[in-house]
Amino acid sequence: MTTRREQLATNLAAVRERVARACTTAGREPNDVTITVVTKFFPASDVLLLAALGVTDVGENRHQEAEQKALEAREADVRWHFIGALQSNKAAAVASYADVVESVDRTKLIDPLDRGADERGVVLDCLVQVSLDPPGRPGRAGVDPADVLRLADAVAAAPHLRLAGAMGVAPLGEDPAGAFARLQAVALQVSGQHPQATMLSAGMSGDLEQAISFGATHVRVGSAVLGERPLIK
Ligand SMILES: *Cc1c(COP(=O)(O)O)cnc(C)c1O
Repeated sequence: MTTRREQLATNLAAVRERVARACTTAGREPNDVTITVVTKFFPASDVLLLAALGVTDVGENRHQEAEQKALEAREADVRWHFIGALQSNKAAAVASYADVVESVDRTKLIDPLDRGADERGVVLDCLVQVSLDPPGRPGRAGVDPADVLRLADAVAAAPHLRLAGAMGVAPLGEDPAGAFARLQAVALQVSGQHPQATMLSAGMSGDLEQAISFGATHVRVGSAVLGERPLIK
């Protein structure tokens, strides 16, 4: 019987191989790209196993689950990325355990994030989440590309936040290459104004190769490492 550790090790090796190959194809160095393993729906014990396998970054998308898991897996030497929809009344609490908040998509989040980071005594890395969906699509996450620079300026001006770059999710039902090309263009505008903001979080289990070809520095990989998530929870 294979243990969970062996399963994770095998999957992780396959994803590392995909990333390395995509970097070679894109003419980039493999260590240009960090794999953020998305551990949502999976237990803290998996985070501990992943850390022992050399994973440095993990991602979570729901506040309560993330808070609990970060506490249970506090021995793991990993950076916690918050990648989910963020309510402003939860933002200060997210800042109390997250090392990177990737889903900053409106100015209303800045004050509570800044306050949470101040209370914790840190400067919190933030990414602006860019909408790659067609305008007007319901449930659209992310700031409109036309408003990204204004939001980025506001994040950068907050004393306890550090603007680190941009993030996006390719919409379903579209060739991800087009979406990642738009995201890369926006990310270059952001880093043009804010030279330290070089991080670009793009690509998931199904489309990480395309994301790497359009400049992703971080890919967010869940199911390819951990297995399929339960459909409902
Ligand atoms: C769940 C999730 C991922 C990981 O998706 P997989 O297809 O399982 O790799 C990446 N990014 C975000 C924002 C997510 O919510």
